[in-house]
Amino acid sequence: MSQGPVKTADNYFPDVLENYKEICYNIENARAKWRKSDETVRMMAVTKTVAPEKINFAASLGARLLGENRVQEFLSKKEFYDKDCEVHFIGHLQTNKVKYIIGEVALIQSVDSIKLAGEINRQAAKINRKMDVLVEVNIGDEQTKSGVSADGVLALVREISALENVSVKGLMAIPPIGSGEEVFEKMNGIFQRVKQENIPGVSMETLSMGMSGDYELAIKHGSNLVRIGTKLFGARKYLEG
Ligand SMILES: *Cc1c(COP(=O)(O)O)cnc(C)c1O
Repeated sequence: MSQGPVKTADNYFPDVLENYKEICYNIENARAKWRKSDETVRMMAVTKTVAPEKINFAASLGARLLGENRVQEFLSKKEFYDKDCEVHFIGHLQTNKVKYIIGEVALIQSVDSIKLAGEINRQAAKINRKMDVLVEVNIGDEQTKSGVSADGVLALVREISALENVSVKGLMAIPPIGSGEEVFEKMNGIFQRVKQENIPGVSMETLSMGMSGDYELAIKHGSNLVRIGTKLFGARKYLEG
């Protein structure tokens, strides 16, 4: 029988503690410098390849919003997570895998087609819930990346808004590494534009943008949810798309 991680002195990760303090400090500085006083920024801990013991240690510090990339990995780890964590799915999601996570996550950030949204709607209806989602935007217009094109965002949000068991809560983007500020600003512009449309049933609360290398820049340009992996947990053992 499998046993959950036990909180002992062995599960103390000084690097994670230092990293967490530094990230919080930087987030607050960026927020204070560039944003209105009433605006808040959430930090997500991105957990791919990280052991549950380490994730729970971060959660004990206050990092209780977790981002999951892979269905299989998430399902194998989730029973060990502290129960007060909020989990979002942030990785590429195949329609045939929706059924495995529909009852397990609070929000799906990576919705980039009406086909995927339709399947989420179908599975959510089965368990009688309304699923919160973000629409993922391919802001760098990269051939190899998922996300709807900048031109297609508004139409997709409208289409999804007609689905009874899906609720759009904002947008998510992964600006290409080394992107200039104009890319972040463009994404913020799209977010504001969709918000102004006041589409019934759509509540544009969240702009999820910024990772370890660019979260301060993202906060400068409107992000209110930054997704941090390596800066919090250290380098991953293998490459991850
Ligand atoms: C891995 C990942 C992150 C975190 O990346 P880091 O550079 O390690 O902070 C954020 N968002 C998504 C979608 C990811 O896959």
